Amino acid sequence: MSTDLMPNRYRPGEATLSPREEALIARRDNVLGASYRLQYRRPVHFIRGEGMWLYDPDGRPYLDFYNNVPSLGHCHPEVNAAMADQAGRISANTRYLEPRLVDYAERLVATFPSEINRVVFTCTGSESNDLALRIARFASGNEGVIVSGHAYHGTSAAVAAVSPNLGDAVMLSPNVRMIALPGPAGVPQAEAAAFFEAQVRAAIVDLKRRGIGVAALLIDTIFSSDGVWVDPPGFIAGGVDAVREAGGLLIADEVQPGFGRTGSHMWGFERHGVVPDLVTLGKPMGNGFPIGAVVGRHAPMDRFGNTARYSNTFAGNTIGIATADAVLTILQRDKIAQNALAMGLRLRAGLEDVARQQSGIQAIRNAGLFFGVQMGRDGMDPAGRRAMALDVVNALRDDGVLVSTTGANEDALKVRPPLICQAEHVDAFVTAVKRALTTVGARAAGGWVTRTRQP
Ligand code: PMP
Repeated sequence: MSTDLMPNRYRPGEATLSPREEALIARRDNVLGASYRLQYRRPVHFIRGEGMWLYDPDGRPYLDFYNNVPSLGHCHPEVNAAMADQAGRISANTRYLEPRLVDYAERLVATFPSEINRVVFTCTGSESNDLALRIARFASGNEGVIVSGHAYHGTSAAVAAVSPNLGDAVMLSPNVRMIALPGPAGVPQAEAAAFFEAQVRAAIVDLKRRGIGVAALLIDTIFSSDGVWVDPPGFIAGGVDAVREAGGLLIADEVQPGFGRTGSHMWGFERHGVVPDLVTLGKPMGNGFPIGAVVGRHAPMDRFGNTARYSNTFAGNTIGIATADAVLTILQRDKIAQNALAMGLRLRAGLEDVARQQSGIQAIRNAGLFFGVQMGRDGMDPAGRRAMALDVVNALRDDGVLVSTTGANEDALKVRPPLICQAEHVDAFVTAVKRALTTVGARAAGGWVTRTRQP
């Protein structure tokens, strides 16, 4: 497992920067402090975004194959117009009668299976998961939470305590149990469902024996921070049944796979043929405006709402709702998920071609336009694979293409372009990956070692 808290980052002295950039980084470090890390060995600075592209101060375009928040593309004019129009009228809260709030809530729940028919708005994915945990604990009367071994669910105290991805120094809750996933454990696909169910059942037994009980199985249905493990569809179903038998709820964290990214479905859990009790939303919901939600079955949500006092100053405010409403309209009107499916197939075929022609790609995992591309060559150890992935990410960055890394060992490329991407973008990306593998392979002729200085 990687011990670096963020392998793909700037480290002073690793790259030659302009005096202006050095000065800005010094001021940044001075006032923002250690929590803020810059991505890439040579940090990027953008002043404008449009569609698939980000532009630096010199006008150099970068092809964005990483950012999943602006899933309709950077600075979508219709989304921006809806946001500005509402900002020019009123920004009110959910305690006033507001038809648009109700209209949007109805439209949003209509995209879910009929059992899921309530929504509470939030401002971030972390807040969605935090609230979902409160609801699940309230409804089940239990405290225990089961998560995947390298899960990330957000920043609040409660969700950081169920996010093993944050590293050994961040305390986990005594009520959380981590389970191994079949893919990273090397389990064949035919045995994946049984393996997952056995992991969940063992966690339930342990939670029960300690008098904690299970409140929820909380999973990102595309397992993005575990390295993007998507297959076989349905492998989580037996584990979900086990949690329900024990009185717990399924919380599907859709912050990453939701809103059409998997292409075949609007929501990641649908690929697995399960219907969650609670679903948490964030990132792409406002295409950049901070809005999220907990969507769920009425029984647990009403029990919580009727009993616990709940109010939220910003969540569901009129500007956020107008923005999210425009996002959903465009997503449906422009058949964005269908595009994600088609472009995902094209990208997969392109990367498979590269993998056949060049060494360096060991596995390609994807659902729609969310890819984990496993880097490495036969015989390479985990540190070598991680160094190689980092070299490829930074070669791409130098070539004007943005991606990053994921997985317990941070040795897979994390590829998540905006969902509007077209064949020309996919083809340009595939060509860039080919180039990056050649560049990195040539440099590392004596073995894959992360360089300490940029050439
Ligand atoms: N859940 C998942 C799966 C995430 O990837 C993230 C953010 N990376 C969150 C929750 C937290 O969302 P936010 O940063 O909006 O609080």
